Amino acid sequence: MSCTVFIIEDETDINDLLARIFRSAGFETVQAFSGTEARLLMERRTPDLIFLDLMLPGLTGEALLREIREKKRWDVPVLVLSAKSGLTDKVTLLRMGADDYITKPFEPEEVLARAEAALRRSGRTAGTEKTLRFKELELDAQARSVTAGGRELSLTAHEYELLYLLMRTPGKVYSRESLYEQVWQGGYYGENNTVNVHVSNLRRKIREAGVEEEYIRTVYGIGFKLC
Ligand code: CA
Repeated sequence: MSCTVFIIEDETDINDLLARIFRSAGFETVQAFSGTEARLLMERRTPDLIFLDLMLPGLTGEALLREIREKKRWDVPVLVLSAKSGLTDKVTLLRMGADDYITKPFEPEEVLARAEAALRRSGRTAGTEKTLRFKELELDAQARSVTAGGRELSLTAHEYELLYLLMRTPGKVYSRESLYEQVWQGGYYGENNTVNVHVSNLRRKIREAGVEEEYIRTVYGIGFKLC
């Protein structure tokens, strides 16, 4: 069974683009172009994930989010999309019950990675990628477990999410900021060293499982990639 995503965005081009991104990854999509239309659709069907734009005519995204959270049966992850940026907005939205926040312009990979992360956290699976493999690593997304050279790694939730992102797109270079934002949602990266610490823990755990090759490479001045 594939997951259904509600895409609520009044700008047709962006709505269609999001629908294509999700469909290409195996999701079913239902598109709504206003808050009131979204509300009507949700009376009929409960999605697995809601992708909600804030700037909507009529019923705003904020108002819709508040309604979604007030009705318990709509206990689905909500990803908010907006051109607004700035820390205050992010914090407010996360407090209002959004699961994550994506600013325009966005990259298809980021949209999918965040949607899948939100689905995993809510106990749903994205359905498309249950097992990821890279060389001696194997990640089981349903069991949230990883083995290296056949040995199970004991990972923290954040280490797991970091490795999941890297394993989803081997070879892609992730900046520390982007890893931080995707794993520690909505947080501000600033000057902290969190990502480095988690990467070095991951490297150590993989090494301790008996895999000597360094899979997580440092890309000087940028961040990390799996290769
Ligand atoms: Ca809009």
